[in-house]
Amino acid sequence: MNEAFMREAIALSIEKMEAGEGGPFGAVVVKDGEIVGRGWNRVTSANDPTAHAEVMAIRDACQTLDTFHLSGCELYASCEPCPMCLAAIYWARLDKLYYAATRADAADAGFDDAFLYQEVSKDWENRELPAGQLLADEARNAFAAWKQKADRTPY
Ligand SMILES: [Zn+2]
Repeated sequence: MNEAFMREAIALSIEKMEAGEGGPFGAVVVKDGEIVGRGWNRVTSANDPTAHAEVMAIRDACQTLDTFHLSGCELYASCEPCPMCLAAIYWARLDKLYYAATRADAADAGFDDAFLYQEVSKDWENRELPAGQLLADEARNAFAAWKQKADRTPY
């Protein structure tokens, strides 16, 4: 069963890449033994650098199930997720992740996954992305307002 779901993710990775949608990545979200979300890389066709297969599959599943949390669901990805997608998987509260190819395989094909894992493990001052902090106190007003908001929807 697990392998059938992974084969669907892999099939999407090849089929959609060959159709010109984007890079060779596919993913499916499964709940109670059924696929509730499908995603494939659409970075170049949608002009969206965040349109990775896992993010797209999560968006599709959330639309299908009308929710912003995917607890009770599993994600099958044709490749080990990049840090962005891994974070999205955590944010979506998925129960379990299965992946096929690795970040090393992706790096061998010219993708930045392995580099990004190195970057996120560094301190700010050692990253290749220049970054600086501004107006922290002003921004904290939003958190103060959030904490006071009686009808907030936690996630
Ligand atoms: Zn990704």
